[in-house]
Amino acid sequence: MCVGDAAGHCFGLTAEGIRAAMTFAIRAGQLAGGVASGRWSTSDARTMYRRFATMRRPYFILLNWLQKWLSSLGDTGIRVYSEAARPGPVFWFLMAQYRWAADPVPLLRHPA
Ligand SMILES: Cc1cc2nc3c(=O)[nH]c(=O)nc-3n(C[C@H](O)[C@H](O)[C@H](O)COP(=O)(O)OP(=O)(O)OC[C@H]3O[C@@H](n4cnc5c(N)ncnc54)[C@H](O)[C@@H]3O)c2cc1C
Repeated sequence: MCVGDAAGHCFGLTAEGIRAAMTFAIRAGQLAGGVASGRWSTSDARTMYRRFATMRRPYFILLNWLQKWLSSLGDTGIRVYSEAARPGPVFWFLMAQYRWAADPVPLLRHPA
């Protein structure tokens, strides 16, 4: 199991990587702990980690793509993009998606 920058878990566009490194490390630690306690096999732990990482992978790809795309826009394009994301419901929807991709809180509240 690979986590953090080494696994590409730093978001493009925001360059935020600490939260993701912590989230994936917590999940990897929980799964490794489950193997050590005999709760599941190594192979099952690998499969569960792969599922966890694969579900979140599109968000990292999207943020990398957004970084490339936005940096190719001029000031006007960036302003239009920012205005489109500014209204409360749009902003909070996008923030919820962004947070979900690397959210340590549910893992800590409900350790697997
Ligand atoms: C300039 C800059 C600003 C940033 N700002 C932010 C920010 O504001 N917020 C945010 O969320 N993220 C930020 N990031 C990204 C964030 O720092 C990383 O995504 C995060 O630290 C990744 O954590 P990590 O544990 O995967 O890797 P690292 O924090 O890089 O830890 C890896 C460790 O492994 C050690 N190491 C490497 N090779 C070996 C070896 N062979 N043997 C033993 N040890 C080894 C390294 O010395 C290092 O201490 C920033 C990054 C940079 C470069």
